[in-house]
Amino acid sequence: MSWDFETEPEFQAKLDWIDAFVRDEIEPLELLGEFHPADKSSSATTTLIRGLQDQVKAQGLWACHLGPELGGQGYGQVKLALMNEIVGRSQWAPYVFGSQAPDSGNAEILAHFGTDEQKATYLQPLLDGEISSCYSMTEPQVSGSDPTLQKTTAILDGAEWVVNGEKWFQTNAQYADFFIVMAVTEPDVEDPYRRMSLVIVPAETPGVEFVRHLEVAGEGSARTSHSYLKFTDVRVPAANLLGERGGAFAIAQTRLGGGRIHHAMRAIGRARQAFDMLCERAVSRDVRQGRLSGMQMTQEKIADSWIEIEQFRLLVLRTAWLIDRHQDYKMVRKDISAVKVAMPAVLHNVAQRAMHLHGALGVSDELPLASMAHIAEVMGIVDGPTEVHKILLARELLKNYTPVEGPWPTAHIPTRREAAREKYAELLEHQVASQ
Ligand SMILES: Cc1cc2nc3c(=O)[nH]c(=O)nc-3n(C[C@H](O)[C@H](O)[C@H](O)COP(=O)(O)OP(=O)(O)OC[C@H]3O[C@@H](n4cnc5c(N)ncnc54)[C@H](O)[C@@H]3O)c2cc1C
Repeated sequence: MSWDFETEPEFQAKLDWIDAFVRDEIEPLELLGEFHPADKSSSATTTLIRGLQDQVKAQGLWACHLGPELGGQGYGQVKLALMNEIVGRSQWAPYVFGSQAPDSGNAEILAHFGTDEQKATYLQPLLDGEISSCYSMTEPQVSGSDPTLQKTTAILDGAEWVVNGEKWFQTNAQYADFFIVMAVTEPDVEDPYRRMSLVIVPAETPGVEFVRHLEVAGEGSARTSHSYLKFTDVRVPAANLLGERGGAFAIAQTRLGGGRIHHAMRAIGRARQAFDMLCERAVSRDVRQGRLSGMQMTQEKIADSWIEIEQFRLLVLRTAWLIDRHQDYKMVRKDISAVKVAMPAVLHNVAQRAMHLHGALGVSDELPLASMAHIAEVMGIVDGPTEVHKILLARELLKNYTPVEGPWPTAHIPTRREAAREKYAELLEHQVASQ
């Protein structure tokens, strides 16, 4: 019997260290809002963030999403989940712990599919926290939910790829040293999932244009950055192909599986933060009829929020355990989709209730709740919108069911009763006879 919800004391000590470190060192720094941790050209990043990263490395907690062969700890997803639910309280903490998106996913695919040269040029400095990266997929003109529709092309011309197209909502593009661009390289292939490849484009390549900066409500430019990019006759060496030609979708799955569950782990931290604020407000605020905590509608908000967070956390931990067990994201696709659907809903509900209970202050920028509620909306869109994941989940679940023969469902009581009578006919006859 091995159902166990306890954390071993040695790892709990690490979690306690992370908890204090995030609270005392990272959260205050983040509040200054003076610079962006992805901006490796800023001296503030190199001094302040690097100093904190060194402490994380000294604790053996750097880039824990990676295996030991890549400089990570190889803790596995369950331990990572316990860490990330603390790290997730802060937007900046992932940068300090070397696990920030999109770099974490980009490092993962470079590690799996990169050539030795690509690993030396891009992966190692990325793992060392010296450079930043961007994953370049979504386009303004077509639905990002269905990447087979993308129009950006990369055409091989002699020894170079020539990239043309537009990409937007490119997280950290303005700080990135390189972009991993998803582009059509095999337009004539029938299977739409084999038409696209990934090409590495260094940021300073001629023809890469920043059209504009896209600010997302609730984040503010100092907290994050998303850009609209245009690629016009951008030429990169043929050796900049990442993985095989036409392999973009298969490679992207490696990246997205991990990315989604890691976001979910961090979302637990945010939802707990909102829950703590909800409860603190409830026990602190008086209205004419008494303290908010004594009112049943407030109590309902608290009870519902706690249940939703705990249910979500168990789903995330169970999925993390499944990933550790199978070591293959494809085998847990439906579980990851379930987590992806639950994540924005739980964060939205808890943040909304906490925001509401704080009245005007709650919706203002003097508390992080409005931002959290907005982040929940963003989570429902990025990495595939909720609808797409519900479709995938339902399809996978339905594979376990077969149509019934005849008009009655399997659970039809009269049919089952009839079968039960037949099964026990002899026994029943005996009973009647002996009475
Ligand atoms: C903050 C932020 C950061 C981002 N970072 C990056 C990044 O770094 N790199 C990158 O490439 N992209 C990034 N994106 C883009 C993101 O991946 C896309 O927004 C996402 O894939 C959805 O694509 P879309 O915006 O074109 O919406 P659409 O695909 O147009 O979808 C809009 C809506 O249509 C509905 N819908 C779509 N498909 C279906 C369906 N099959 N069934 C039912 N309803 C459906 C859903 O309600 C969906 O929300 C980011 C976006 C945001 C907001």
